[in-house]
Amino acid sequence: MNALRELYQEIILDHYRRPRNFGPLDGATHQAAGHNPLCGDQVKVYLDVSESGEIGRIHFEGAGCAISTASASLMTEAVGGLPVEDARRLFQRFHDLLTHKGEPDGGLGDLEALAGVRDLPVRIKCATLPWHTLKAALDGGAVGAVSTEKA
Ligand code: ZN
Repeated sequence: MNALRELYQEIILDHYRRPRNFGPLDGATHQAAGHNPLCGDQVKVYLDVSESGEIGRIHFEGAGCAISTASASLMTEAVGGLPVEDARRLFQRFHDLLTHKGEPDGGLGDLEALAGVRDLPVRIKCATLPWHTLKAALDGGAVGAVSTEKA
């Protein structure tokens, strides 16, 4: 295992053991729930979007495997404070990274720690579940289940 892989492994384990922005969010303006039946991951994403279209706070809660939990935690750190359109673009770039359309040097920061799942199709759904749930929250905000069938 090379040094970069070890670092990535450490980032994932750190976010799994100490998830950031974990728990419900009082005063959330948007929220959605997602479920990945292949693995059993459950996640809820709560957002506080300002009138000017910036994501203020973002929280998540749920129960899932190390990859889905770490991905949700990393996501909250990556999109907190971003304009909604930038968050959507970031999801697209992250998705491209995991589906081999993007390269792991795309300036995605700690999100690149999850690039290792790109060769594990089942795990890709674990990593993208929080992001699909974020997108559902931004698109509708209604509480509902997100399918990962097309992840
Ligand atoms: Zn999972």
